[in-house]
Amino acid sequence: MKITAIKGMSDLLPPQSTHWERVESKAREIFKTYGFQEIRTPIVEPTELFVRSVGETSAIVEKEMYTFEDRKGTSLTLRPEGTASVVRAYIEAALYYKDPVAKLAYFGPMFRYEQPQKGRSRQFFQIGAELLGVQEPMADAELLIMLEQFFSSLGITDTRLEINSLGCKACRPKYLEAIQKFLKGKLSKFCADCQKRSDRNPLRVLDCKKEECRTLTADAPMINDFWCEACHQHYREVRGLLLAGHVKFKENPRIVRGLDYYCRTAFEILCDRLGSQNAVGAGGRYDGLVKDLGGPDVPGVGFAVGMERLMMLIPDIEERTSDIVFFALLGSEAQQKMLSVMQELRAKGKQVECAYGGSLKSQFRRADKSGAAQVVVVGENEVQKGTAVVKKMSSGEQREVLFGRLVEELTV
Ligand SMILES: [Zn+2]
Ligand SMILES: [Zn+2]
Repeated sequence: MKITAIKGMSDLLPPQSTHWERVESKAREIFKTYGFQEIRTPIVEPTELFVRSVGETSAIVEKEMYTFEDRKGTSLTLRPEGTASVVRAYIEAALYYKDPVAKLAYFGPMFRYEQPQKGRSRQFFQIGAELLGVQEPMADAELLIMLEQFFSSLGITDTRLEINSLGCKACRPKYLEAIQKFLKGKLSKFCADCQKRSDRNPLRVLDCKKEECRTLTADAPMINDFWCEACHQHYREVRGLLLAGHVKFKENPRIVRGLDYYCRTAFEILCDRLGSQNAVGAGGRYDGLVKDLGGPDVPGVGFAVGMERLMMLIPDIEERTSDIVFFALLGSEAQQKMLSVMQELRAKGKQVECAYGGSLKSQFRRADKSGAAQVVVVGENEVQKGTAVVKKMSSGEQREVLFGRLVEELTV
């Protein structure tokens, strides 16, 4: 019987993997100019980490986590998102002692047990960044400016950024109370899920995707009417900085985010080309999280971008590497003579391909397939003369080159 990959988890094959690599390097390159450094955390964490950070009543913890016991009976979970792990590592290594400001970027797979569909898989890849130790709105704005630069560097110009503020510990409780009051009389009209979650996590009702619930919450109280002065001020400053940074955005007081730890700034990056799963990135501020997880009272703000969806927005750029040099070698003597030339070319960064045997005709077929720009032919005759025949594939033009001059000729 053939063994296949697990449902909702797919392989990344060439040439897609090459496109991914290009996008990841772009992110690394741009993030670096903002001072971000990479952090790599384990894919598996104690279940408790996500229960305490993402929140017991969040959709993720309630029904989407891959949780299992290890051989000693410890409950482990495949990370469903990146922030909790980064904050756990940040506290564990006491990074705040080394520098009050930490800028950490991550790249890796996350896992959620959801119904797979276009733009949603059970193993999905995220690129994320976390800026810890800064309370000021400039941090929120800088992250969004960095994201905007990343997207436009990939030629994506039709996304829209929507921002909101979720309030803080001082003002959010009043809002939650108002929402609960609003829901009270009409709860029976909501879907079963919403009825269940209304008293424990009323914000999730506002996040419900079902049409009937959306209609019912259309005139629900808005968070912006409940912001305290400090939240107002923070929001105004973020907005002003985004305008100054020429980042286009839309204010959307309906953004609530399904994760418990957000406070103040919350944002989503959407693109209509993605269909129903239209968020390609999201994030926000999480000032209480480090403390909640046992660290000092350090603020934080971050984002994550979904790689699968991001890739759907980028046209596959045919990277027909036109400078491949292909070696068509006949006989072991030719192979031995050319091996050091091939090594030298690769050491200079040149992509070198060869057929590992076969007739000249079949070797040329392979050369063609590889997209080679030049083919170096060496057979018995050439070995005797000490010269190779170099053929330009585009024009068919051929020339003889002394073995000793090959590297130089092929690297111009
Ligand atoms: Zn507030
Ligand atoms: Zn609902």
